[in-house]
Amino acid sequence: MTKSYDAIIIGAGVIGACTAYEMAKKGLKTLSIDKLPEAGYGATSGSCAIIRTYYSAFETCAMAFEGWHYWKDWEGYIGAGVADDLIKYHDTGCLVIKTPHNNDLKNVCAVMDDIGCPYNDVDVADIPKHLHGADTRSFEPAKRPEDAGFGQATGGVVNGAVFFPRGGYVSDPKLSARNAQQAAVAAGGAFLFNTEVSEIRQKEGRVQGVTLSDGTKVDAPIVVNVAGPHSFVINDMAGVSEGMNIKTRALRHEVAHVPAPKGMNFERDGLVYSDSDIHTYVRPDVGNHLLIGSEDPACDPKEWVEDPDVFNTDFSDQWKIMVMRVAQRLPELGIPEHAKGVVALYDVSDDWMPIYDKSDLNGFYMAVGTSGNQFKNAPVAGKIMAAIIDACEAGHDHDADPLSFHLDYINKDISLGAFSRKRKINENSSFSVIG
Ligand SMILES: Cc1cc2nc3c(=O)[nH]c(=O)nc-3n(C[C@H](O)[C@H](O)[C@H](O)COP(=O)(O)OP(=O)(O)OC[C@H]3O[C@@H](n4cnc5c(N)ncnc54)[C@H](O)[C@@H]3O)c2cc1C
Repeated sequence: MTKSYDAIIIGAGVIGACTAYEMAKKGLKTLSIDKLPEAGYGATSGSCAIIRTYYSAFETCAMAFEGWHYWKDWEGYIGAGVADDLIKYHDTGCLVIKTPHNNDLKNVCAVMDDIGCPYNDVDVADIPKHLHGADTRSFEPAKRPEDAGFGQATGGVVNGAVFFPRGGYVSDPKLSARNAQQAAVAAGGAFLFNTEVSEIRQKEGRVQGVTLSDGTKVDAPIVVNVAGPHSFVINDMAGVSEGMNIKTRALRHEVAHVPAPKGMNFERDGLVYSDSDIHTYVRPDVGNHLLIGSEDPACDPKEWVEDPDVFNTDFSDQWKIMVMRVAQRLPELGIPEHAKGVVALYDVSDDWMPIYDKSDLNGFYMAVGTSGNQFKNAPVAGKIMAAIIDACEAGHDHDADPLSFHLDYINKDISLGAFSRKRKINENSSFSVIG
């Protein structure tokens, strides 16, 4: 193995693999290092892999709409050099319930108008046409089973919904990372698995490379942290956390995998569904199942994890609470005796928006803080990271003069200052997985 590269990428999840692909396409000799056995084995494999365009900020909505085009033409993005089957993207569209939490989606729809992303208003009476069997009564505010009135409607119906046709899901998120890894290899990138980075070496304010846990040293003038829930560990290792206004932490999350209600072919007819009246989101899954995740209501305690290598992978009460909340909307949904699904970690930033940025250490970059909502943006994030690295290595001061990035498909420019580690907290954020 050559011990010297143009760039080292720590992490081979979907964002790490796409970043490696974009850098390799630019002619850099890259080495991706991951302590797990295969690409996408970490948080990526636990992802619900929902592709949607609604977020709380212009930049995140625009990036997600741009990202949708990559999933729609995954083959065009990945190219011909991939041995495995390619992922299948299910373009179901997304139905989002209007609630006071999302200001009846008025701000989101204004951004959609701005970026040219289509959507349709859905009257409350028409919600069951999209989500068969839906009970449209309101259940706000969110409660826990021990609270009085849990599961009981609180009066009136929800305010309607918005259907976003540009959205859907990928049923095999791990394969998407593997596709991107193989594309990176075809472009000249190298990957090293079952290998842990234990030190970021530096000299006179510039990164020199990494040391592996077996003591091997690998040199490179560029190192990129795409370590998912371990992002803060790697940033601490590099000594760059102090210089960040926005920090990242690992948060434990459960996803439930349950059979669709009787008589409902959700795998065939279902769609991505987000409902902040019952504080859950749903998407179809193989075998006519529903995947259910939480939209993080204030009444549910958050399980921050201090050591991302050690966390409880058993299901807790949270699993059943999420399924019961969805059963408020879909009364025919059964609540299985045995919990199935995923327990995984989000890499959450202080305002639940990602950090795609340089650091205070020259040559050290980061794509972190993906907050349970950046799978969909992996190809665009890869391009953004390659652009930031290109500009900074050429001497541009991205902190003082944040780069503007052109989104080719939607023909819009975004300021990458929105993803800076030094930004102020985005107070308009949902401070949840919605971003
Ligand atoms: C339960 C869940 C549901 C989600 N649902 C969605 C969704 O529906 N839509 C959406 O857009 N996003 C979703 N996300 C978020 C999305 O999956 C992540 O943002 C994305 O997968 C992150 O990819 P990544 O490449 O940055 O990190 P990861 O996939 O976490 O990869 C990081 C890699 O770094 C490696 N690593 C860490 N430390 C070291 C070290 N010291 N040395 C070597 N390797 C190291 C790890 O082994 C790991 O493989 C979800 C996430 C979770 C957990």
